[in-house]
Amino acid sequence: MAPRTETSAPAGERLIDRFGRMVSYVRISVTDRCDFRCVYCMEPDTQFVPRAQVLTLEELALVARAFVELGVQKVRITGGEPLVRRNVVSLLEQIGDLPGLRELVLTTNGSQLTKLAQPLRRAGVKRINISLDSLDAERFRRITRTGNLVEVVAGIDAARAAGFESLKINAVILKHRNHDEVVALVRFAGERGMDISFIEEMPLGVIADHDRAEAYYSSDQIRRDLEAQFALIPTPEQTGGPSRYFRVPELGNKVGFISPHSHNFCEACNRVRVTAEGRLLLCLGQEHSVDLRHVLRQFPGEMDALKDVIRHAMEIKPRGHDFHVAAQPLIFRHMNATGG
Ligand code: SAM
Ligand code: SF4
Repeated sequence: MAPRTETSAPAGERLIDRFGRMVSYVRISVTDRCDFRCVYCMEPDTQFVPRAQVLTLEELALVARAFVELGVQKVRITGGEPLVRRNVVSLLEQIGDLPGLRELVLTTNGSQLTKLAQPLRRAGVKRINISLDSLDAERFRRITRTGNLVEVVAGIDAARAAGFESLKINAVILKHRNHDEVVALVRFAGERGMDISFIEEMPLGVIADHDRAEAYYSSDQIRRDLEAQFALIPTPEQTGGPSRYFRVPELGNKVGFISPHSHNFCEACNRVRVTAEGRLLLCLGQEHSVDLRHVLRQFPGEMDALKDVIRHAMEIKPRGHDFHVAAQPLIFRHMNATGG
């Protein structure tokens, strides 16, 4: 069962599901669009949601406020690429000002950070996760299809200069694409005072680029590769998510492993997601969801109606996911549509 954390919301106003887990963390996707087309996330010709179906910035701000009033303490803004959404900084400023919110954090591919790192910091973003799968420009381009490594590394430097509480690298590791870079990526992060998490590819959406079972490179394998170079000391850190962390004494940073296949993490799940279209997803690996956009548009500005629907949605939060690496995807939405 998830550890109950303190919140500023009154007891009846908290989000607790049928299994006694308290939801204290929401990940909000502010767009399904992106300037990259990473091979594990999207197809080159991905069709995006028509703009009218995407929540407006005002609607997104209301959703964030409703969750915080219901005891959520941590909001992560994600996408798609959140920083390609026009005026996203003004949304972050509004969310950053919500009383009761402890942490406003962001996941980005880093492409816009040279211009946005400082405004994000001023808006109250505390921590940023930046995705970086390769340190080789050609490979980086092949994995992201459109990304430019030099721009992303410059974005990472801009974020370091802007003074966030912490910055972390996220790397999805695929066999024969970048599995031989895990040591170099840990060093890259460590030399810049950053932690790094390695993510196993998840079967979200159909992709034609590669066979996911063949490209699977397990967290246990990455750990063995790293242990040939570094002493990895386990830390007791619990995130309520699928991450396990190890300290790297040689570099002074931490390495996390996000491994939905090899280790079950659902029992302590403390999170839900909202897609750019306003669908509240109760589990990353299941389809259980509730349409918040409908409520937002039928009862504009009515916080009580929105909060009621969110509270009731806890009744359908499933016990856990069903990922299986060799199986065809059970979940037909891609990660960009899900809010990674
Ligand atoms: N565009 C931003 C980025 O890339 O950081 C935020 C959204 S992206 C969907 C969030 C994270 O999900 C990234 O770290 C990305 O590498 C990861 N991701 C995307 N598709 C995935 C998949 N099929 N399995 C595992 N991780 C995935
Ligand atoms: Fe875009 Fe992030 Fe998906 Fe890559 S992982 S295509 S950067 S949303």
